[in-house]
Amino acid sequence: MGGAVCLDFVNTLDDRFSAEPKELLPHYVDLARFGEDTGMLTDLQVDRLMTRSMQQPDEAKRALASAIQLREAISEIFYALVRKKPVPAAALVILNQHVQDAAQHLALMPAKRHFEWQFESDPYDLFAPLRPIARDAAELLASERVEFVRTCASKTCEWLFLDESKNHRRRWCDMTKCGNRAKVKRFYVRKKKAVVS
Ligand SMILES: [Zn+2]
Repeated sequence: MGGAVCLDFVNTLDDRFSAEPKELLPHYVDLARFGEDTGMLTDLQVDRLMTRSMQQPDEAKRALASAIQLREAISEIFYALVRKKPVPAAALVILNQHVQDAAQHLALMPAKRHFEWQFESDPYDLFAPLRPIARDAAELLASERVEFVRTCASKTCEWLFLDESKNHRRRWCDMTKCGNRAKVKRFYVRKKKAVVS
């Protein structure tokens, strides 16, 4: 939905700036499912990770904690950029640690017409879902697309998204979720005013 996996990942802490943020990844299985939903992991990989997480709950907890640490570092960096604030150095250190770990698991593999980067690891490695996310964040930050990262204009949402529209004037994370809500609100405000006047 956000146009980049790393931004969708940040949005898994919903209502981030409210008094009661909603954690959408409370358990390791939620992280594995995020990997599946975003196409980073295959069904087979997810099945294996689910099995391993049940066999090794402590290791699964550590992997989830590390994923949350990565998510919050990515979040701090992108919200700072969008708000034109200095990027917190500590967040960049954390992201770089994850990016370097990801790089160690990358290998060139022959694909149809050219080679492509693929992640290689023990199929039961519970940290596998973190690596494509870290790499996605690094690629976005190092590209010119980074200037089109926005926050949703809905004050109760503020999700991050990549605005790849032609004129780069997209305002909402999702037209049906936040755009319509804002429109309906404006409609009611207008009606109310009309009644008052
Ligand atoms: Zn939104």
